[in-house]
Amino acid sequence: MVNTTPSPSFPFSNLALMPAMLANLDALGYREMTTIQAESLPAALEGRDLIAQAKTGSGKTAAFGIAMLHRLNPSYFAIQGLVICPTRELADQVSNELRRLARFTENIKILTLCGGTAMRPQIASLEHGCHIVVGTPGRIRDHIGRDTINLKAVQTLVLDEADRMVDMGFYEDIEGIVSACPSRRQTLLFSATYPDDIRKASARFLHDPVEIKVEAQH
Ligand code: ADP
Ligand code: MG
Repeated sequence: MVNTTPSPSFPFSNLALMPAMLANLDALGYREMTTIQAESLPAALEGRDLIAQAKTGSGKTAAFGIAMLHRLNPSYFAIQGLVICPTRELADQVSNELRRLARFTENIKILTLCGGTAMRPQIASLEHGCHIVVGTPGRIRDHIGRDTINLKAVQTLVLDEADRMVDMGFYEDIEGIVSACPSRRQTLLFSATYPDDIRKASARFLHDPVEIKVEAQH
């Protein structure tokens, strides 16, 4: 039997986003929200903490990216958004996607900080300033230890693929990074699975989080 039930529609225009942001999403071909976006963005835009479980390819980057960019003040040149990813490859992907999402304004600077890259140019870029940092736990922790990064203005902290980061032994680095951020901030944790370590991280780093679980890809 053919299923004739229409799938629910969640246009981005349902969200109270800036017109320029909506126009850019439209230009990117993003019209309907994916399931994880429809379930997480309303709470994330309200400033709630979030623990979201969803598979690869479900559109998690825009789920946190839109919320982060919505809160960001482009005329305040300080790190307001921080995204921690398990690998350099993922950090590059997230940076690229955030740059696309940020095209509605010219002024947002995004810096990627991963290991395996010379320290000095990263320090120079940090001195120059940026609005968003995307990076891997070890390198961000390294900058904190050298006092070459200032995370006091972070208002949105994202732990992307948190289960992989914990599997790779990054829990302590994440702890160090979180304690360098203000305690009054929004924290968004994304994970494909929900093992005990992630439960522990959630209890430790998140405040009264909204819990979301998406089974299907979209
Ligand atoms: P995840 O982090 O969940 O693995 P990504 O954020 O990398 O997924 O998104 C997967 C792909 O889907 C990317 O190519 C992204 O550009 C695209 N995408 C995300 N959201 C939408 C949307 N609402 N409409 C169309 N394409 C989207
Ligand atoms: Mg992703």
